[in-house]
Amino acid sequence: MHLVHLSMSDRYMWYNDTPFPMHLTKVGDSVYADTSGSNGGNMGAILLEGAIVWVDSGMFHQRTRAMVDRLVEETGLISESMILTHWHSDHIFGAQALDVPEIVSSEETKRACRRALDSSWRREEILSYAEEIRKERPEYWEAAQDLEVLIPTQTFESSYRLDDAILVRRCGGHTAGSSVVIYESENTIFTGDLVFSHEFPYAGDTSCDIDRWIDVLQEIVDDAYDLIIPGHGPICNSEELLKHKAFFGSLRASVKDAISEGVSYDEYLERGKIPDFYEDTRGHRTGMAVRRAFELYG
Ligand SMILES: [Zn+2]
Repeated sequence: MHLVHLSMSDRYMWYNDTPFPMHLTKVGDSVYADTSGSNGGNMGAILLEGAIVWVDSGMFHQRTRAMVDRLVEETGLISESMILTHWHSDHIFGAQALDVPEIVSSEETKRACRRALDSSWRREEILSYAEEIRKERPEYWEAAQDLEVLIPTQTFESSYRLDDAILVRRCGGHTAGSSVVIYESENTIFTGDLVFSHEFPYAGDTSCDIDRWIDVLQEIVDDAYDLIIPGHGPICNSEELLKHKAFFGSLRASVKDAISEGVSYDEYLERGKIPDFYEDTRGHRTGMAVRRAFELYG
């Protein structure tokens, strides 16, 4: 197998006169990951004999393209397929840059993509949103101009094997279709957004299942992986997963208590009842997690 090392300077490229950090970093013998947050969600690559399998694709296809071109050029490998952990745009909108014949996801994730294509992902919706936020997020506006949303071509119900060494398993939790990607040769797992390493998680999806999320975090810890690549934030260990599990457990208990005491969603937030966790730097994620807990347990 042909392995490559990207030097620090290689991780910085220029696009459209705007510098941005290229963080596709070698994290295992044949595993790469971008956990910089500069391209929406984390994405990764597994180098197999003769081919690259991508895990998620980031959000801005121009940025994804720069990373993909570099890895393809350095390794001489072709991009074989992409595995999608779930349907959220910060993991799938970069897909057109990957040029892969096959996009794999759970059937549930494909269904969610189809629903989004009929609503918030309609071309006119995306362009008008891009126009609204053009000043604050020029990279979103730019990517939206020639965005082609690609959806999965190959789906599975509960699990899928790829090239013998890779197992994709649907877990649910963050979204109903959320799946983990396990690269068995290196005892490595890509968790997708089941883990927001060192940040407050997004738990606002209409199919988010907090009970399931808690259980699957424990399952991943029990499986004792050597390398855990989260959906957002830096590479982490089991402790980080247990922290998330404890937070969701406390949230569930406190929302159940609040509901039994007749406390409303607004009162819950006003009284600052949400358990301590990472700061919600985006400002809206705490409210969404609490809202979802009220929906689930109310
Ligand atoms: Zn997500």
